Amino acid sequence: MKEKAVRVLSPVSRSKRGISVSHHKNTANCEPVHMTDVKTVFLPMLQHIGAPCTPTVSVGDEVSIGQIVGDSDEYLSVPVHASISGKVKSIGVIKTAQGKPVEAVTIESDDKMRLYDGLCPPEISNKKDFLKAVRNSGLSGLGGAGFPTHAKLNTPSGKKVDTLIINGAECEPYITIDYREFIDKSDDVIEGTKLLMHYLEIENAVIAIEDNKPAAITKMSELTANEPNIKVMALKSVYPQGAEKMMIYSATGRRVPVGKFPADVGCMVVNVSTVSFINRYIKTGKPLVSRSITVDGSAVKTPQNIRVPIGISINEAVDFCGGFKEEPYKIITGGPLMGISLIDTDAPILKTYSAILAFTKKTHKIKTEHDCIRCKRCAAVCPMHLVPTDIERYAIVRDAEKLIESSAEACIQCGSCAYVCPSGIPLVQYLMLAKDIIREAGAKNG
Ligand code: SF4
Ligand code: SF4
Repeated sequence: MKEKAVRVLSPVSRSKRGISVSHHKNTANCEPVHMTDVKTVFLPMLQHIGAPCTPTVSVGDEVSIGQIVGDSDEYLSVPVHASISGKVKSIGVIKTAQGKPVEAVTIESDDKMRLYDGLCPPEISNKKDFLKAVRNSGLSGLGGAGFPTHAKLNTPSGKKVDTLIINGAECEPYITIDYREFIDKSDDVIEGTKLLMHYLEIENAVIAIEDNKPAAITKMSELTANEPNIKVMALKSVYPQGAEKMMIYSATGRRVPVGKFPADVGCMVVNVSTVSFINRYIKTGKPLVSRSITVDGSAVKTPQNIRVPIGISINEAVDFCGGFKEEPYKIITGGPLMGISLIDTDAPILKTYSAILAFTKKTHKIKTEHDCIRCKRCAAVCPMHLVPTDIERYAIVRDAEKLIESSAEACIQCGSCAYVCPSGIPLVQYLMLAKDIIREAGAKNG
């Protein structure tokens, strides 16, 4: 085997698009602290994209960690597992932090945190077994999109993937859990990458990390020094470097056309924490029952990374970090650019949450909306080469044809256009409206 030298990598900057944002990686040095003293968890039956699960337990049942409490026969779905041991207290509709009603299993803790006896490493001898195991693990992508991972890893027939890209960009400000995965679980990252390459028959892998994480780049470079088919790549820190299509272009120079998928250009992009989790699951059989999140923002007393059982309330996670030091004006899950505002902090933390960020009114900037001054800054930064002002105009008059011609569907809702707009125009909302108009028109026309 040819030996690779560990070398200092120059950051790759293929795209001139995107924006520079302050990183605020305040918790970068904080290894996730495990939160185990939990009294109650609320486990929604829909935490992923696809079909909801149906509860497989009844009120009063004793459950232990890793036991299935909800599942579905549909392919595009993943099971939900108990994240603490205890008794099923209720099954019924609760509201998510965004106010959406969802069926959930509520478990009251017995304070023992017992593991389910039936957990054991899955037996895998081929790709089919591997994908089945990934589904059984309850994994729906730890990057935040919530797409069931087994479906993502299942390349459509007729397509050949030659490059696996491990997405370690973590380009949103504040969030540092992927960075910690590189530092604290480096072996899982490498072994997980190899597992995917092996079972999915992918020849090469690129571990792509933004250049504001030099320790992660060094560590990965050292560990892959003797892996000729795994390359570590330093990418320029620019938002949204972690967006799938931008990541593919940065890592390989291949462009994914509008309406096409990564497999159409021979690529597969998987988040680093997802890959690392897969390795642990294959070794132990312990499904997705906890996850790391960053808790930060100007309203939080002690910002830190914590590892929480899925389903604890947002309030409990914040209290574990010392609570709020000031009344929060805005609380979001995910990063400040693509994150979603929360309206109920009694609601549970879901598999898709990578961060809870809370900001005071003083530090939360609200732009007043003015008329467009045709400066074109929005178009200049768009990573998908769209012209947001055109899309806004066509969305206002609901012109589906023009919206399709403008490739509005290619928008990844990264928010870069709205971020740079000096007139405070809520461009992302217009982009979302544009997609709805196209969808409605498509449904009408059959
Ligand atoms: S138009 Fe969409 S993809 Fe382009 S910058 Fe705006 S939100 Fe991002
Ligand atoms: S950045 Fe704002 S003001 Fe400038 S062209 Fe775009 S929408 Fe208009």
